[in-house]
Amino acid sequence: MVPNKHFCQGPHCHTYTTTDRFLKSKGIIRGRYARLDADYQPNSNGYYYSNANMDKYFCSQGCANGWLAENMSAIEMGIPVPFIRERRFTNGFAKKTTTHEGYNGGTYKTNSIERIDNNTN
Ligand SMILES: [Zn+2]
Repeated sequence: MVPNKHFCQGPHCHTYTTTDRFLKSKGIIRGRYARLDADYQPNSNGYYYSNANMDKYFCSQGCANGWLAENMSAIEMGIPVPFIRERRFTNGFAKKTTTHEGYNGGTYKTNSIERIDNNTN
């Protein structure tokens, strides 16, 4: 089922290496969906959620800040800012498992998502 959500408008959302953005089968990092449904009603249940109109468009405060930083000069000049309507992604990532030595002579493993080449889409 396709969520009734906008894609996060954060200009760099599709470049952050978090586990929830990583799609192992394709080796890509994908932009997130916005936090709230596109038709979310701020006053439903008598509860006013002051950031609702922002969270319909962004996954996080960091992405909203990134949008402001990137686009305010265009807004000032009256230049339209493109709305992101397709899911963006960055190619070239893989899950890497690292084995570490533990205190008791045993070992443990950790996982990270790392860049494997410089292809960018
Ligand atoms: Zn985002």
